[in-house]
Amino acid sequence: MSNLIFPTDKGLYCQVADVYVDPWRAVDRAIITHAHSDHARWGSAQYLCAAPGEKVLQYRLGETARIESMPYGQSFEINGVKISLHPAGHILGSAQARFEYKGEVWVVSGDYKLNPDSTCEPFEPVKCDTFITESTFGLPIYKWPEREELFAEINAWWSKNKSEGRNSLILCYALGKAQRILSGLDMSIGPVYTHGAVEVLNEVYRQSGQNLAKTTRIQQDVKPELGSMILAPPSVQNSPWQRKLQPVAVAFASGWMQVRGIRRRRSYDKGFILSDHCDWNSLLTAVKLSEASNVLVTHGYSDIFSKYLKTEMGIESSILSTHYVGELVSEQEEGVEVQE
Ligand SMILES: [Zn+2]
Ligand SMILES: [Zn+2]
Repeated sequence: MSNLIFPTDKGLYCQVADVYVDPWRAVDRAIITHAHSDHARWGSAQYLCAAPGEKVLQYRLGETARIESMPYGQSFEINGVKISLHPAGHILGSAQARFEYKGEVWVVSGDYKLNPDSTCEPFEPVKCDTFITESTFGLPIYKWPEREELFAEINAWWSKNKSEGRNSLILCYALGKAQRILSGLDMSIGPVYTHGAVEVLNEVYRQSGQNLAKTTRIQQDVKPELGSMILAPPSVQNSPWQRKLQPVAVAFASGWMQVRGIRRRRSYDKGFILSDHCDWNSLLTAVKLSEASNVLVTHGYSDIFSKYLKTEMGIESSILSTHYVGELVSEQEEGVEVQE
């Protein structure tokens, strides 16, 4: 196996094409798999992303960032390396980056999931020789509920709170998770309000052609009527902003909610198991569908997952160290390097 892509102190690098994927330091040419802040860092001279994610990335990096985009599946060549982007199913515009050079194919999957999500294109399996995957939830205990089951649970919780004279607050990432939750809410129950951090991204999703339900930003003079649903980033927990919503039941939506202890320690009224990453079975399925003979595993339970691939599946595998962080419980956004 060649070393078509390897880690450097700036990030994952394809030397032949002289391009980085999701670099954590400023470079000349960066391919960005998606706009979460551990993957999309400021300061590079030129960015390339998948077309549906261009507006989100521009919002995240600021107006002065030079961003070009490319439709999924289209390819271009640099120094004999054929490069294309393919849907990763993680958030709007998220992509896997495919590199082909002298008959050998590498795929950097970024963050991805296989569970259905109507706010982005579904994950597309891409056959390759070397597959680079994250492993945030790379333990067999992680198994996500079906979409219908999960949203039935969320809507039932909202209805119950409303009938008891309370608001419902779901803490979730402002980018991706909030819009995905919104897509499954039963709007006949009541109105949906948002924190400003969520509302700006709802607006960018709408400008990108996503058909999201109506939401209203909470402001000084805009207070939710009792029984409303409110979507806000985790950083508002126990803040004066949250106290103004009382009486309110508070839930957190994350893959980590599968672990009861985390839910208890953080004193949420309710935890919804909802992740934009793969559960254990999805990781294995993605590896199988890639037909890769070599799998490089990055953030998460990389040692356990990599060992499983070697010993149970007979696939060549090793750990790749990066600065990506996966899903977090303790901070408002991906990108803050604290993980519980
Ligand atoms: Zn992400
Ligand atoms: Zn990530």
